[in-house]
Amino acid sequence: MKMTIQETNLFLKRIKQYYNDFIIDSFKVEEWYNQLKDYDADDVNRKLDKHLKSEMYGDYPPKLNYILAGIMKAKDKNAVRKYIIVCQNCGKELDYFDYDEHLRKCNSIDYVIREMKKYLNKDVTREQLESMSEEKFWDKYDAMLEIIKSKLPDGSGKKKLIQAYFGEIDLSIEETEKAVTDSYNKEVNENGNIE
Ligand SMILES: [Zn+2]
Repeated sequence: MKMTIQETNLFLKRIKQYYNDFIIDSFKVEEWYNQLKDYDADDVNRKLDKHLKSEMYGDYPPKLNYILAGIMKAKDKNAVRKYIIVCQNCGKELDYFDYDEHLRKCNSIDYVIREMKKYLNKDVTREQLESMSEEKFWDKYDAMLEIIKSKLPDGSGKKKLIQAYFGEIDLSIEETEKAVTDSYNKEVNENGNIE
């Protein structure tokens, strides 16, 4: 479905919610509408969601080229047979374009299940994690890492990786590799075997 002028207006209002300095006037609405009208409102709004969560760019209003990058015009979407891909991890069928994002979350879900068991002796299920909103999931994820971090000895590879994840320390590429190897060796020793 092509984007309407009302949807464009709503889209710009959404941007304004997050960026006070963002000005909307009729000229702007018309200008953006002309640029967005061939696209699907859902796709455009999804790109905005992504932008808002981006650590690197989220402080600034999104640029048009970012919003349109990687999304297809509505008519092309209908013409092209959708590429379906099956997640190797959970077996879900996904749109090709959603795969990268899905896989990141999907792997993180497995990671949370494993680490919750190992460090907190808690059983969580994939269903529980999948039913959470994006925001809640990543909050939980961060909270879990904080707890694990507090349990790890200073200087351990895994602790360093978590500290780097939170931006508390900077690791060079070599240091990151060493931390990964350290944390891997430790896991291997604890389990007594390599999985
Ligand atoms: Zn999956």
